[in-house]
Amino acid sequence: MVSDGSGRKPESADVVVVGAGLAGLQCARLVAEAGLGVVLLDRKEDVGERVHTTGIFVRKSLEDFPLPPSCLGPPVRRAVLYSPARRALSLASRRDEFRVGRMAPLYRELLGRCLESGVRFVSGARYCGARRTARGLVAEVEREGRSLSLETRLLVGADGANSRVACDLGLDSNTEWIVGLESVHSGVPLAEGAALHCFLDPRIAPGYLAWVVQDGEETHVGVGGYPDRFHPQTALAEFTASLDGHFALAEGRLLEQRGGRIPVNGVLRRIGTDAGLLVGDAAGAVSPLTAGGFDACLRLSRQAAAVIVRRFETGDPGVLATYSGANLRARFWSRRWMRALLAGVRSRAAMELVCGALRFPPFRNLAWQVFFRRRSFPDVD
Ligand SMILES: Cc1cc2nc3c(=O)[nH]c(=O)nc-3n(C[C@H](O)[C@H](O)[C@H](O)COP(=O)(O)OP(=O)(O)OC[C@H]3O[C@@H](n4cnc5c(N)ncnc54)[C@H](O)[C@@H]3O)c2cc1C
Repeated sequence: MVSDGSGRKPESADVVVVGAGLAGLQCARLVAEAGLGVVLLDRKEDVGERVHTTGIFVRKSLEDFPLPPSCLGPPVRRAVLYSPARRALSLASRRDEFRVGRMAPLYRELLGRCLESGVRFVSGARYCGARRTARGLVAEVEREGRSLSLETRLLVGADGANSRVACDLGLDSNTEWIVGLESVHSGVPLAEGAALHCFLDPRIAPGYLAWVVQDGEETHVGVGGYPDRFHPQTALAEFTASLDGHFALAEGRLLEQRGGRIPVNGVLRRIGTDAGLLVGDAAGAVSPLTAGGFDACLRLSRQAAAVIVRRFETGDPGVLATYSGANLRARFWSRRWMRALLAGVRSRAAMELVCGALRFPPFRNLAWQVFFRRRSFPDVD
């Protein structure tokens, strides 16, 4: 078990953060660096176990946040978009656009930074609920079959797409999902250099896309789509078989399978109350179009931390009301519109026409911008 090293069970804290994914790790560290007492808890024993994400970081995150280079794969500058008939549209950038995180070591490294900042981490601790008291809140936690109560002034829900904290605080919850499933391989020779290959095909990836990401070290093969329109395991098997002859997966080694839900409703409106707030997937902070969530995790958590610090500096819980998803949501309109368009293309023939249009300007420019422009999540600071 990873712990704060003191052997002492934390019983109270200014702030309790539920969930040590990217959002919780970022928020907990920044709040602790401001001198507040923070308890971070996660139901996992090790933050590096059961990774559910591909791990692609976009240039904007890589430029704006100090992620440890040793936990990132080689840079990728090219994206290839395939139609259902596998007509390829290659898009290249002069800059390093993506890097695939080695997520288990990355989570552990970020947890190390939290501990250095004074965060007390409780592993293997499942958050079960919270009740209000005169002084704030009591979070109920189950750990090693025992119940633990944590007194706190403020609760942060960084507990992922299906947030229990959101329900307990009476905040908004995610309502629209896609499901992603991928296999991760090592030792697969590069097909045509490092690239992010995206396959638009409503049969194997209804409402989203299938992907092959190769950075020269790892190869990720995945499918994503609306859960009521496909069977992810079957689709992944069909997609993998269809790659024969193009990607030499058999020459590599299968490392693991990853998967999970991705909220695509856009950032939720009500993400803060006087008792707590939501960050990351719990706040719906995922690009509705690309389904990328890391940049949103890092940015929204930074904003949440600033609001929390101000709340304690002023002693005014009303400060938390400034933390609202409503403004951000308005800035997501184009992405939500494009999501509706992508979700609406249900036949392969219609998708072939869409992909045909993408070959010509201005649609080709639009595709280029979706992949490479520095605008994955609105700046919220
Ligand atoms: C298959 C797939 C591929 C993806 N690929 C990318 C990508 O390449 N790039 C990108 O930007 N985004 C990607 N995403 C989205 C991205 O992974 C998420 O947006 C991001 O990981 C969300 O981080 P988070 O910290 O909010 O939530 P999570 O990473 O889900 O962390 C939540 C944490 O809370 C803990 N927890 C939950 N409930 C409790 C509880 N009751 N008690 C205690 N602990 C609890 C969990 O154990 C977990 O550690 C992908 C998602 C999926 C599913």
